[in-house]
Order: sequence, then C-alpha cells, then structure tokens
Amino acid sequence: MLSQNIQNKISKSSWIRAMFEQGEKLRKLHGPEKVYDFSLGNPDYEPPQEVQDALIKYVTGETAGLHKYMNNAGYPEIRENIAKRTGEEAGLPLTSNHIIMTCGAAGGLNVVLKSILNPGDEVIALAPYFVEYGFYAENHGGRLVVVPTDPATFQPSIAALEQAITPKTKALIINSPNNPTGVIYSEAVLTQVAGLLARKEQEFGSQILVISDEPYSKIVYDNAKVPNILSIFPNSAVVNSYSKSLALPGERIGYIAVNPQIKDVELLISGLIFANRTLGFVNAPSLFQKVIGDSLDVAVNTDEYKRRRDYLYSRLTELGFTCVKPEGAFYLFPKALIPDDVEFAQRALKYNLLIVPGSGFGCPGYFRLAYCVSMETIKNSISAFKALAEEFRA
Ligand code: PLP
Repeated sequence: MLSQNIQNKISKSSWIRAMFEQGEKLRKLHGPEKVYDFSLGNPDYEPPQEVQDALIKYVTGETAGLHKYMNNAGYPEIRENIAKRTGEEAGLPLTSNHIIMTCGAAGGLNVVLKSILNPGDEVIALAPYFVEYGFYAENHGGRLVVVPTDPATFQPSIAALEQAITPKTKALIINSPNNPTGVIYSEAVLTQVAGLLARKEQEFGSQILVISDEPYSKIVYDNAKVPNILSIFPNSAVVNSYSKSLALPGERIGYIAVNPQIKDVELLISGLIFANRTLGFVNAPSLFQKVIGDSLDVAVNTDEYKRRRDYLYSRLTELGFTCVKPEGAFYLFPKALIPDDVEFAQRALKYNLLIVPGSGFGCPGYFRLAYCVSMETIKNSISAFKALAEEFRA
C-alpha cells in the first residue's frame, strides 16, 4: 500500500529509528539510569510558570468561543502583539498582517515552502542542518541543495554559497542558533551573504527568500546576540516556534513573520494563509495561541542549559574531543574520533551512549549530543565517554 516515494524516504532516515530502538533495548537490559541518551532534542524543562498560569486561566475561565474555527492566520490581537515586538526588534513596520500563526516551526516551514516553490526549484541549506529540511522541500516539489559551512567555525562560507546559487534558487534556509552545532551566525558573515544574494538576484532576475528557522533564538548563552534576519535581508521571513523557548514542543505552536519589504508582500501573505489552510493545519491551535499570547515576553531559564553546556564541553575537550563551543541551542557537535561517524555512533552503544552521527545533518565525521538531559545523566556519562575515547587512542 505504501508509496515507493515514502518507502524510500523512510529507509533514508531509518538509522534514526534504529538508534531509538537500540536505546529502548539498552534501557530494558541495563535500566534507564545506566543509559546515556543524548539523541533527542526534546526539552526536559517544564514550561515556565507564566505558561502554566495562562493555561489554567484559559481552561478554567470563560471559554465560550475559544474552540471555534477562526481566521486561518490566527487571532488578530495575538498577531498584533507579535508584530509589535518583531517590528521593534527589526526596525520595520510590521503589522498583524505580516504574522501567520502556525503549528510549530515545522508547520511554518512547510507553509512557506508550499507558498513559494515551483516544481524543480532549489532550496539551499547550510550543512550541518536539520535533516527534515530535505523532506519539507520535497513535499512541495522542491530540491534541497546542501552547502557546507566553514568547518573551523561552522559559519556560512561565502565562496561555497556563491557556487551553489543558480537561477533556480528560490530560498536559503538559515538556522541560527544552529541545530546541531549551537553556533550563532555572525552579523558580519550574514551581511556578506545578503550582499551575495542581492548580486545573484540581480544577475538572474530572480527573488531568493531567506527563511530564518529560529526555534532556538531565545536559548543563548553569555549574552550572545542573535543578528536580526529581517533587518539584514529584505527578502526574508522568520519562522519561529515556542517548542524550545517555552518548552512546548508537543503543543505545536509557532508563527511566520514576513518582511514587509518584500515586493508584492500582500500576495505572498495571502499565499501563506492559503497554504496554512490547505495543508490541513487550517489554523494554529486556538488554546495555545491564547496561552503564548500571554507569555510573549517569557522564556525558559537558560542557566541550567548553560551549566550543562559548560560541564559537558569542558569534560569532553579534556578527554581529547574537539568541538566548537556552542553559543546557543542545547547541542554539542564534536568531531568523531574516526572519519566514519556512523561506525563511531555504533561503537558508542557499547558504553550505553546514544549519540547521533553527523551524517544525519549532512556533515559526516561529527556527532551530535543533545544536552536536554539531567545533569546527573551528563555527569554519569563521562566515564563512558572516557572509555570510548580510550578505545580510539593511538
Ligand atoms: N527547526 C529546527 C532547527 C529544529 O531543531 C526543530 C526541532 O527540533 C524544528 C525546526 C521543529 O520545531 P517545531 O517543534 O517548532 O516544529
């Protein structure tokens, strides 16, 4: 019954499933406390108190009308409040019209891609990248073009990007703070990227949309600043979600903010609203639109994530692993100790360590650790990392 297309796609990502199944097996065999599972980017925080309070308020208060269909773009007053904040940060005149509430960032990305892609159009992703981008582009007739970043810093490489842009390039996805590296792309590099895109658009007579996938924009350390994409790229849209910033991934709530400087922006916005409707989302969940509407200035406390980043980064580098120190998100992306990262992840299982090979992010030779696990798990895992490192010591 299953289509050949989906069969192929499932088998392409089957090692992620295999990792999950291995984890389950190990937990049954050794007990969950003896298994160090760094494989999933699922926040272990509970949502902030303000979110819990808002939820109680809307569930127990006057709920008449709360569960009805609505404008496919979402509640106007909540979009207005998001537009006000986004516009102030970008220095641009955003109104509620420029905001479309979505089912998380995943929903938002699909809505944007459906709205802009013609068959065969190319979408550039900068490796390492979130693996779902390829599937999302293909969902809407597009093709993902993977461009490496500078391996010393994981910042975009202007030379590599220049080579990849063609007349068929319709979008560039930026994800900063990045999953899986935790790197924040610098303002200086992004400004160069903006210059390059403007030149290429002129050369090809095309328009290239920068899609900024920002679920980690509020998870940053040491007062690092995330450059404002809407102010750097006139042809841009931010896709954001509350999955990580408010620890609400199961509730599927986020938004798209469209740059008002885009030519014929009203037409694009009507396309986005149409796509939100016809992809079957119809509108973002009404209850959680209300809840996040009361929590727009709130985010999870990142102190505990920072403590984990500092501890894990220090211990692993002491053990001889090399890694760019992340400035945000909750991932570490060290170099594997052998070139074959899939083999390396397999060997790590012997020590009950569940890690994700860099190949899964278009970047072989590395592995990803998601440190949204308890500090206790992290501390207990160090002897396993030590044993793993010793296995590869010359
Ligand atoms: N983009 C990136 C880079 C992610 O890491 C994730 C989730 O892990 C998503 C998008 C999807 O986020 P959401 O849960 O808001 O759909």
